[in-house]
Amino acid sequence: MLRLTQCVEKRETDKTVDISKTRNIGIIAHIDAGKTTTTERFLFYTGKTYRIGEVDEGTAVMDWMDQERERGITITAAATTCLWKGYRINIIDTPGHVDFTAEVERSLRVLDGAIGIFCAVSGVQPQSETVWRQSERYSIPRLVYINKMDRIGADFYRSVHSIEKKLGARVLVLNLPVGSGADFSGIIDIVTEKALVFPSEDETQYQVIPIPPPFASLVAEYRMKLMEKLADVDDLIMDKYLNGQEITVEELRQGIRKATLSGRLFPVFCGASLKNRGTLQLLDAIVFYLPSPLDRGAIYGTNPETGNQQFRLPAEDEPVSLLIFKVQNHTHLGRLLYSRIYSGVVRTGQILMNWSRKKKEKINKLLELNADRFQVCQEAYPGDIVGLVGLKDSYTGDTLADEEHPIIFERMLFPEPVVSVSVEPRTRADQEKLQMALAKLAEEDPTVVFRVDQETGQIIFSGMGQLHIDVCLEKIRRQYKLGLKLGRPQVAYRETISHEGTGEGRFVKQVAGRGQYGHVVLRLEPLAGQGKRLEFVNSCPADKIPAVFIPAVEEGIREALEVGPLAGYPVTQIRATVIDGSFHQTDSSEVAYKIAATMAFRRACQAAGPLLLEPVMKLEVTVPEEFLGEVLGDFHARRGKILHVETIGSSKVISGQVALRHTFGYATVLRSLTQGRGSYIIQFLRYEAVPEEDIGRLLHQV
Ligand code: GDP
Repeated sequence: MLRLTQCVEKRETDKTVDISKTRNIGIIAHIDAGKTTTTERFLFYTGKTYRIGEVDEGTAVMDWMDQERERGITITAAATTCLWKGYRINIIDTPGHVDFTAEVERSLRVLDGAIGIFCAVSGVQPQSETVWRQSERYSIPRLVYINKMDRIGADFYRSVHSIEKKLGARVLVLNLPVGSGADFSGIIDIVTEKALVFPSEDETQYQVIPIPPPFASLVAEYRMKLMEKLADVDDLIMDKYLNGQEITVEELRQGIRKATLSGRLFPVFCGASLKNRGTLQLLDAIVFYLPSPLDRGAIYGTNPETGNQQFRLPAEDEPVSLLIFKVQNHTHLGRLLYSRIYSGVVRTGQILMNWSRKKKEKINKLLELNADRFQVCQEAYPGDIVGLVGLKDSYTGDTLADEEHPIIFERMLFPEPVVSVSVEPRTRADQEKLQMALAKLAEEDPTVVFRVDQETGQIIFSGMGQLHIDVCLEKIRRQYKLGLKLGRPQVAYRETISHEGTGEGRFVKQVAGRGQYGHVVLRLEPLAGQGKRLEFVNSCPADKIPAVFIPAVEEGIREALEVGPLAGYPVTQIRATVIDGSFHQTDSSEVAYKIAATMAFRRACQAAGPLLLEPVMKLEVTVPEEFLGEVLGDFHARRGKILHVETIGSSKVISGQVALRHTFGYATVLRSLTQGRGSYIIQFLRYEAVPEEDIGRLLHQV
């Protein structure tokens, strides 16, 4: 374990590069596509590390949690900074496993560009598709890197095709591989019309040679495709192309940059990171084609004082604004907040306002991030991604800004957890320690929720999937040296309504000589779209329920939402409108309205056709062909819906959907059905109504 003096170093100079030379980049991909291996090359070639860390040896710098080293997967998004040809590249290594999607989501929020890494054998895999779609939502310009060209079965053209077909992405092929598998020996650069060959394991020793003659016609074909696509987005290239004039390398790069920044086209590269082939040109591509914070332009938010829309430009003379995108409880530094600076200059010792919580915060320390090492800096500039130490009341998604210039950037949305387990410490004495550890974990990971069951006193821990829960609890076991006993995984059911319904609640009582009066009539309607729990509307005239009591009505509804009418699960996706009510001159009170609202809500739910919802998962299973029949049979037995079966190399890939409650223990069953040769990925898709015939049995179990 590192000591504080070892993990914090002094940064030599604060301002080494200007904003136009900053790149905030995410690396997104399916697990095992090679994100960590590629990032390790970046760090090595830019001089951040002195030897290349290998995932397989457990020495990778970016996978710094012990567990990541052991499990060989990337769990927490570690940020790191490197310098390349005068540019500062901030890289966020994002987890590839579907259960850690919140990590990906929050990284995407603060990045300007991304590299999507795909495996040349498998092409587009489920998680790469999910992350690709997530980054589409944030309009992030992307490069495509087809890695593992050295593997047997690698097929560049098939991979490009699967990117076009499955992701619907318009690609700009800028590389062609020379050979594949064991024969992968070089990369053709369509822009410079040269080939790069690698005579040794050291990538920096690459040689540039003319295009090998057998590739001449292929290169001409791809160059023509490139020109045609660029002509659509760049007038200069269109003119020159149509007039048969020569287009310089620089003009081409400008055109590709413009096309990439517009988000309409995606440059494609290839390589084999493990063999040190292709990563240097990828560093160049980040600089050439991905945006700087200036290209991303103004960021919009709301002025919390006036409710008006505001924006901040990425400039040093703008008022300071920054967004917290991650909280980590660091062993030595304490609460470490990862932030992106959007405007102004942030200085050590500065006091900023957390406008999301209206709390003043002092920045005791500013840190440049390098996986598990940090460098102290005095100032940070627009576009920088830095660590902040000393803040007490700030959390993921909060905006901090100048005290005189309020702004709040849009909050991040995280999915609700779908699986729960009961957790108990091995000894009673550890109960408090466990709760404290869980509270810290929930602060770091917004997709973790825990609560103490009021009836049994048990701690119920919820997360995004079994692996997510396992990793979280393992972290607690190790960090706090706690023995834990776990219960069986349980599905996090929800309740909602199927149609409109109204209900009335009247609370009239004499308590200790004083009257209590509250009377509320509510209309409930189903709310379209997943994710939003409650939309509260008041359309009751103030002469029926005075405005001062409306917040109490809303509070009553929010409390009632926690315990649904069918089986006590949380209620979601509801619009509640207060449509009528009455009041009493002397007896009306907040407590009485709260109780009346709770009663009205329960009755309205009963009238609105309550439904039980369950998480439905996307399941993708890869098996050798000979086991296909048995695996499909088992899929049917779990009442899964098969969407398609695809052939990739010698394997079959079954894609389908299945209710979460039918997937517990799948790992063991698949192992025995396929003699350990099958693998699967499971991911939360959406909540759906539990089929009628199952409701009775499920309710019986509650
Ligand atoms: P991540 O999960 O996306 O971070 O993937 P890793 O970087 O951990 O790589 C997953 C596995 O693929 C490791 O065993 C790597 O050694 C291997 N790998 C990564 N890049 C290449 C490559 O270019 N060629 C080959 N053959 N294997 C690679």
